Amino acid sequence: MTTTPAPAPTEPTAPHETWDAVVVGGGVAGLAAALMLGRARRRVLVLDAGAPRNRFTAHMHGVLGRDGTSPARLLADGRAEVVSYGGVVRTAEVVAAGTDDDSVTVTTSDGATHRARHLVVATGLRDELPAVDGLARFWGRGVAHCPYCDGYEVRDQRLVVLGTGPGSVHQAQLIRQWSERITYVVHDAPAPTDEELATLEARGIVVEQHRAVRADAAAGPDGERLAGLVLDDGRTLHVDAVFTAPTPRPGDDYLLRLGAERAEGAVGPGGALPGAVPVDTLGRTSVPRVWAAGNVVVAHANVPVAIAAGTMAGAGVNHALVEEEVAAALASRAVTVAG
Ligand SMILES: Cc1cc2nc3c(=O)[nH]c(=O)nc-3n(C[C@H](O)[C@H](O)[C@H](O)COP(=O)(O)OP(=O)(O)OC[C@H]3O[C@@H](n4cnc5c(N)ncnc54)[C@H](O)[C@@H]3O)c2cc1C
Repeated sequence: MTTTPAPAPTEPTAPHETWDAVVVGGGVAGLAAALMLGRARRRVLVLDAGAPRNRFTAHMHGVLGRDGTSPARLLADGRAEVVSYGGVVRTAEVVAAGTDDDSVTVTTSDGATHRARHLVVATGLRDELPAVDGLARFWGRGVAHCPYCDGYEVRDQRLVVLGTGPGSVHQAQLIRQWSERITYVVHDAPAPTDEELATLEARGIVVEQHRAVRADAAAGPDGERLAGLVLDDGRTLHVDAVFTAPTPRPGDDYLLRLGAERAEGAVGPGGALPGAVPVDTLGRTSVPRVWAAGNVVVAHANVPVAIAAGTMAGAGVNHALVEEEVAAALASRAVTVAG
């Protein structure tokens, strides 16, 4: 396949002009949607506040073909790809959104408004960490939630699973796959049942029926590193990494304000999880012209899954636009014939 020169940017020049699609959120899901739309020769605008969920970590893992790449590098490459097809990517925070019969309008914090035929919401989620003094500063570099992302790098080391809810015993059993040196600190999780204690003991997992009160640091080769977890009885557990299940807070305000509703919350490793706004396999929400992809609607989506969801949403929006154009062409032909 030959390559052609990049098309000129297709940004509308007057405020009344309408984009084919506006994508709110320029993480991997949003950029994947925009890439599909750009390649489908659609005028697409990405508005991104620039705070992707994995910004705390230096390397991504489990991402086929990009394993070990920095999240920032992947996003920079993704933005360049979107721009190469005429897409426009801007740093901006969307503060309001509205729909009418044939368009959606978003407003950014600087007061600018952008009108589009369709809206893709890819605003991700915020991780609410357990309240342990000093823990948050190690998020993404010693404190993690996903063993598929970070487990291999700490294999065979001293790992703590910090309980946050009913699923935490399962999380401890999962993390055991990466090391035999596991301590399960019950913390906010319910006290393990006798049956759970038996399963933990059978796999050599040490159980501390205590709360953690502080994460301690030590000097490491790249600055401070996590070194210990202080329990409420004063003892310090010397650790190399902590795994925990934060509460996911989806960035779905605009979806809710536009009329979407969250499904009932499930119970996850971190306890009762906020429900997600339901979408179909293409990312279509219950609100006409509004689509959603990535962590904003699927909390467990890692980078490849979020990319896949954005890809489907981009194709879904293009398909919907084609259907609208077919209907408009038929209507205009009917008028011509009648006239
Ligand atoms: C510490 C950590 C490490 C991780 N490591 C891995 C890993 O190794 N491998 C892996 O596959 N996954 C990993 N993940 C998961 C990964 O972060 C997510 O899968 C991915 O970020 C989801 O992409 P997204 O596009 O849905 O959301 P995000 O990447 O969070 O992107 C959402 C974007 O929307 C923007 N935004 C939000 N609200 C607005 C608004 N109102 N207006 C404009 N823009 C807005 C945000 O600023 C952000 O840029 C990790 C997560 C964490 C927390």
